This record gives sequence, structure tokens and C-alpha cells, in this order.
Amino acid sequence: MKDVISQYRIDKEPYYRAVSDEIAVYDAAYSVRMPMMLKGPTGCGKTRFIEYMAWKLQKPLITVACNEDMTASDLVGRFLLDANGTRWQDGPLTIAARFGAICYLDEVVEARQDTTVVIHPLTDNRRVLPLEKTGELVSAHPDFQLVISYNPGYQSVMKDLKQSTKQRFGALDFKYPEPAIEEEIVSHETGVPREIAGKLVSIAKMARNLKGHGLDEGISTRMLIYAGNLIANNVEAKRACRVALAAPITDDPDMRDALDAAVTTFF
Ligand code: ADP
Repeated sequence: MKDVISQYRIDKEPYYRAVSDEIAVYDAAYSVRMPMMLKGPTGCGKTRFIEYMAWKLQKPLITVACNEDMTASDLVGRFLLDANGTRWQDGPLTIAARFGAICYLDEVVEARQDTTVVIHPLTDNRRVLPLEKTGELVSAHPDFQLVISYNPGYQSVMKDLKQSTKQRFGALDFKYPEPAIEEEIVSHETGVPREIAGKLVSIAKMARNLKGHGLDEGISTRMLIYAGNLIANNVEAKRACRVALAAPITDDPDMRDALDAAVTTFF
């Protein structure tokens, strides 16, 4: 059974550039196994942060990308049919609870509320996971911790976490890093010189002001890294910005013009 968990260990230090006191706060939260919520827009470093923390704490990390079709069984487990009959297979949440991993539920709000409530007994003093279908009550391993990500921009009244769920977590706010730090990250991740990375960050800064004025979401750090990667692979800068920054987020001709204008200011 040991192999089940060893595949989730992170052997190599992930590159993570701290932006504030998040590492120290998370260390303290983990020491009391406080369930944590990482809040912030997509592509701003939440996943990289939890990968880094799992490596630093030397704990396995099990990540689940949540979606609206996900059921409680996808998290907890299900009976499978095989040649010998039926066999129970633990889901990712159960594996994490049993073997002491950090379980990261990415974009948990995408999951239906009846799916989300299965995490409740794991997030209070009980730290248990009842497997209704087998009758087993799994007591969480002392190392187990639950972490969720949450994008405050996407929520509607219909789709939000219940208050009773939210209140079970401590929350760390993430936003796009300050320009100098974001420049450092983009340059590190792509190998483009700081000067080019700085221009990409400046374009993003302009584009982020369009959020709510025609754009649903700003240009993320992840997108800047895509643009940098294209430039590093000899795609001309303006073309790289079109492909990686403008085209993915808007089809509106005026918005594309506005983004092209921002690009032309710098390249
Ligand atoms: P999220 O989980 O918030 O959607 P990610 O963690 O996947 O976003 O971030 C996207 C990419 O941006 C990462 O793969 C990483 O290359 C880079 N990144 C963002 N913030 C940081 C940071 N603080 N340190 C290092 N890399 C970062």
C-alpha cells in the first residue's frame, strides 16, 4: 500500500517566489492541521504554492481538479467490478486521509454542494471520513490536511460555497504578484531576459485594468509565462502576445484592439 502514496511525494524543490508572509503562516496552519483555503484569480500561483509547501513539509500532495459533474464517490471512492467480484477502491480524498497526505481540492466551488459536504467531518475536531458504502469510518492520519482553492471572481449566488463550509477554513489571499516579483517569476520560468519579462508584466498591468470593462478576467501570471515561452522559442514578441495573451481571453474586436495597442506600446 506504501506505493499508493509514494507517487504523490514531491522530490524536487518546486520554484516558488514568496510574495508575502504566506510560507510562515502556512507552516503555522499546518502545524495545527488547520484546513486552508487559497483564494485568488486563476493562474496567480496558488497551485505552485501548495506544491512548494508540500515539498517543504515533506508530505505527499494529492490534487483533485473539481468540476460540476464530480460526485462524492469521485472523492471518497467506489466499488469496482473485477474478475473476482466487487472490490472497493479508495478515492483521492480517502487515500489522503488514510495515508497522511495534503489533499488539494482545486476550484472546489465547481463541485456541487452535496459533493462538498463530504469534507465536513474531516475539517472539524472529528477528523474522520465516513465511507457510507462500506460502513467504514476512516480516522484521518495525523499528517492529513485539507486545502481548497477558491476564485472569488467566479462565484454567483447559485454557485458558491456554503457559509458552513467556508467557516471551516483559514484563508490566504493570493493576487497577481507585484510587478518586480512577477517579472522575476516570468524570467525564471521562461528564460527570457528580465527586460522582456518586464514588458510582458507591463502589458498585463494595462490589460488587468480592463477587467470588468469588457474582460471577465485579467491576464494571469500563467499566461505571461506562455507568452515568454513562445518568445524564448523564437516567436516574434507581438505574435507571441497575440497567441498567449489576447486571443485566449477575448473574441471581441474592440478588446483585441485594446490589447494589441497595449502590446504595441512595449514591443
Ligand atoms: P493557480 O493555481 O493560481 O491557478 P498556478 O500556481 O498554476 O496558478 O500558477 C501559474 C504559473 O505561474 C505557475 O506554473 C508558475 O510558473 C507561475 N507562478 C505564479 N506565481 C508564482 C510564484 N509566486 N512563484 C513561482 N511561480 C509562480
